[in-house]
Amino acid sequence: MHIAVIKDSGPAERRVAATPDTVKGYVAAGHKITMTKGAGAEADFSDAAYKEAGATISASNTACVKNADLVFSVNGADAKLVGSLKKGAGITGAMSPTDNPKYAQACAKAGVTAFALDYIPRISRAQAMDVLSSQSNLSGYRAVVEAAGIYGRALPMMMTAAGTIAPAKVFVMGAGVAGLQAIATSRRLGAVTTATDVRPAAKEQVASLGAKFVAVENEEFKAAETSGGYAKEMSPEYQKAQAELTASHVAKQDVVITTALIPGRPAPKLIDKAMLDSMKPGSVIVDLAVERGGNVEGSKKGEIVTTKNGVHIVGYLNWPSRMAADASNMFARNLKAFLPLVTSEDGAYAPNWDDEIIQGCALTKEGAVVHERLLALPT
Ligand code: NAD
Repeated sequence: MHIAVIKDSGPAERRVAATPDTVKGYVAAGHKITMTKGAGAEADFSDAAYKEAGATISASNTACVKNADLVFSVNGADAKLVGSLKKGAGITGAMSPTDNPKYAQACAKAGVTAFALDYIPRISRAQAMDVLSSQSNLSGYRAVVEAAGIYGRALPMMMTAAGTIAPAKVFVMGAGVAGLQAIATSRRLGAVTTATDVRPAAKEQVASLGAKFVAVENEEFKAAETSGGYAKEMSPEYQKAQAELTASHVAKQDVVITTALIPGRPAPKLIDKAMLDSMKPGSVIVDLAVERGGNVEGSKKGEIVTTKNGVHIVGYLNWPSRMAADASNMFARNLKAFLPLVTSEDGAYAPNWDDEIIQGCALTKEGAVVHERLLALPT
């Protein structure tokens, strides 16, 4: 099959969907690989390395995708490029489908099958393909490292001849994939680490990383997980109790990392102005949920906002791209694990429509939008 790897665009995008390593494997398996010039440059992978791995370098995305059976991208291509794909071709990427339903419509119109990697069902067999996890893990790590860089003090305790530096207090709100890595990173850096979540399963995971769990553990909490393992939107009463509990805790923290998300809903607001006012000057908050509306009042997409009392709220976008080399490595391996699901025994492009993973992530088929989550959207 002919696989085209394009140069991705999108907010602060530096990642690429294939590495010289994965390209080498594809070429060895008999696939033809075209890559857009400079596709991996911002992730530290040179065209020369891709060429050596067996790829052909194309001058533009349009030239790269010409006659391709399958297009690899990180975010999906723009609608114009989709229009230039061969009818019946496939395209992969984390496409945020419900935020951008027009994208699936453009793919359907072009007769292109869109595989939204962010919709891959979170079943055990699909773990190796799970781009949400591979990228969130890096975001959680980077959030703590970035906060440590902005914070004007040290994270670990230091006992020196000039006196003792007390360890910083780090609070992680939301203990999913990103949050758990943030907790682990904070612990590695020696901070006194606490965390909260609304899912009861998170309590044990937080404790296993050596952090203290802080949450309102009432009856609603005990039933707050969906069958898919995600958080439910909590009642206004729970949110009030949660805010009261966390308010006094937040006031004592030096660094807060917020990662709380609810599928298909805006991010829950966890830190309000009064909490911000209660924090010490120089404290740092990283709002990893800023792209979905933010967990922190006043956080701004792509910016660091400093409040009147000197609290820095970091709202950077596209955290995985801040670690573009590793993020691309992980993303590329996720795609390598996905490829067999769209490949026939003789190596041709042939999605296995009987596979629940393909059914779970295909947005379009034969010129129509087919995914139930998109069909359920109001028109
Ligand atoms: P996510 O990014 O959707 O949300 C981040 C975290 O925020 C979640 O832990 C959620 O419970 C929490 N949250 C939501 N509202 C909150 C609130 N008001 N206060 C505090 N925390 C709040 O989550 P995720 O990282 O994608 O993980 C979701 C679940 O999926 C987890 O149980 C995870 O273990 C599971 N998972 C399973 C697989 C798999 O089996 N293949 C892979 C990855 C994740």
